[in-house]
Order: sequence, then structure tokens, then C-alpha cells
Amino acid sequence: MTISKITNMQYKRILLKLSGEILGKSGSKGIDHVELQYYVKEIKKVHDMGVCVSIVVGGGNIHRGSKSLFQLDRTESDHIGVLATVMNGIALRSCLENNGVPAIHMSSVHCTTICDFYKRQEAVKALDSGHVVIITGGLGLPYFTTDTAASLRAIELGAEVMLKATNVDGIYNADPNIDPYATKFEHLTFQDAIEKNLAVLDKTAFVLCQTHQLPLIVFNAASPNALLRVIQGEHIGTIVSDYKKPNIYSVYSK
Ligand code: UDP
Repeated sequence: MTISKITNMQYKRILLKLSGEILGKSGSKGIDHVELQYYVKEIKKVHDMGVCVSIVVGGGNIHRGSKSLFQLDRTESDHIGVLATVMNGIALRSCLENNGVPAIHMSSVHCTTICDFYKRQEAVKALDSGHVVIITGGLGLPYFTTDTAASLRAIELGAEVMLKATNVDGIYNADPNIDPYATKFEHLTFQDAIEKNLAVLDKTAFVLCQTHQLPLIVFNAASPNALLRVIQGEHIGTIVSDYKKPNIYSVYSK
């Protein structure tokens, strides 16, 4: 990593939340190789610039605990969801390595023969030695989501910002796929987001970000170079913050 590269970046340490959905083909279950390759290449661009990248991966492309199609206890259904995130993590780590990006996969549930158990100190060490750190398993507990895990890990690992990669170009006041009059928010405070009951992130995650003043950017990761542009400080997507961080204020005022 060279200093000149890293100084061009608005953010030097990020936590990227990759929803499972964007790793799958729309309308079908599982991992889509083309989508996976695309996101790995986007991550590689910022890693090559010297940015410290940790990633929390969801599992919605494989299983969502609350949407089990067969009669299943919610706790057990959530356990399947947790394991789905581990499956995505295996594919993501392997694809990153195949593209020349050193990556470590840690899970919040014990999968000893598959990946490491998440430990903050180990994750920090790996990040500081230039590895992308992939964290799966959510919090390892039912009734939670990987959004909450992402905000917690971002805080623990000292990320300057949490970036939620989605297939919509920000946060809207209604579903833009259904409502033609839906309007996008350029900026929201955490309080706004919580009071408006916005479904883009779960409330626990919003509250954690608010309490610890961790800014959040929701953006469409499917548009080319979107991740790189966000990290360079371009205002795309929706920024959620309380204006207390000067770097976010300057992004917003551009
Ligand atoms: N999950 C859980 N506890 C966690 C994280 C995830 O029980 O801490 C389960 C839950 O069933 C959830 C599924 O894993 O529906 C997939 O995670 P999530 O919905 O957050 O994935 P995403 O929407 O980001 O793809």
C-alpha cells in the first residue's frame, strides 16, 4: 500500500454490509457466480487503494428466518439463516483469494473445520496486515439480523463508516419498485430514520449507529465503481448521520 493512494480516500477503514440478495440472481435462490465476481472486483478496487475492508455478509439469498416456507420453529429457522451467511462467506473468501485479494473468513458461530471463530483482536490484526476480513454468522443468535451484526462489528473494529450495499440507489420514503412517486432522501438523521420506520436497516442497527455516531451510507452497489466513488467521498446514495462527524458534513455539503 502506498501513502499517496490512501490519501485520496475519504474513508480508510470501512465496514461493508453485503446483503445476501445482491449475491444472488434476482428472483432465484442461491449464489450467482457472475454477481459474486462483480462484487469481488468492486471490493478489489478499494482494497488495492489501501483501504481496510471488513465485510459482514447476509444470507437472504439462501434463507431468511422469518420467511420459512415450511413449518419450522423461528429459532431453528434463524439458525438456518445464520448458516446461510456462512455459506456466502465461504464463496466470497474463495472468490476474493482467486482474484488476488488476501481474505480471512471469521464466523460468530463455531464452524471449526470451515472458518475461524470471530475474535475482535484477530480481526483487527488481519485488517492491519492487509487482509479483507469477512464476518459471517450475524451475531450467532436468533431474532437478530446481519444489519445489527454489521453495525456492532463496525464499531468494534473502528470503522469510520458503515456502507450498506443494496440494489436500490439509496433510502426512499416508499418502495421505488412499487410506488412511482417514491422520493429518495439525500440525507437523514438517525432519529428521522428510526421515526420514519424505514425498512432499509433494522431498528437495532440504527440505534447502535446513532449511539456510537457511526455514519451509514446506503448505496446501489450494482452501479460500476460505486463503492470506490463512495470511499472517495462522492455523495451517492443516502447518508444517515447526525452531522457530528466533520468528514460526513463535508461529504454532505458537496
Ligand atoms: N440471522 C440470525 N441472527 C443473526 C443474523 C442473521 O438469526 O444475528 C438469520 C435470520 O434468520 C436472517 C438470516 O439469518 O433472516 C439471514 O440474515 P439477514 O436477513 O440479515 O441477511 P440479508 O438480508 O442481509 O441477506
